[in-house]
Amino acid sequence: MECYICTQCGTQYAETEAPLETCRICTDERQFVNPQGQQWTTHLQLKRAHRNTVHAQGAGVIGIGVDPQVGIGQRALLIRGVERNVLWDCVPLLDDGFADLIHALGGLRAIAVSHPHFHTCMVDWAYTFDCPVYIHADNQPWVMRPDASI
Ligand SMILES: [Zn+2]
Repeated sequence: MECYICTQCGTQYAETEAPLETCRICTDERQFVNPQGQQWTTHLQLKRAHRNTVHAQGAGVIGIGVDPQVGIGQRALLIRGVERNVLWDCVPLLDDGFADLIHALGGLRAIAVSHPHFHTCMVDWAYTFDCPVYIHADNQPWVMRPDASI
């Protein structure tokens, strides 16, 4: 069983024996399917060839990306708090070194995701930091990996 990630949009799906034929996000009229055909990866595969990147955003805000790009090139924002932090939006990768860095900064109190393009691997991030994920109720149909943390 594996939680497959669509390489085109970066969305992680609930555990399955094999990847799905198509990605529900990419087959929606607002997105597009990979011109080379549907392709999948896993969080473990991404960790082997990608890393998180940090981008200065201003006082108290750290931009987070993934290099090389995965999905649509999502970025997340780590909003620094007094004791713990909030992650605004999410990216398809959380590498081990970057998780250690966020733990050293106080961890996460919560993850808030603006819309389905940023659902990515939000459940993996929630498990790593033992925190809840908040999404708009209207976006519930676009949660491809349902979880009690959401
Ligand atoms: Zn997709």
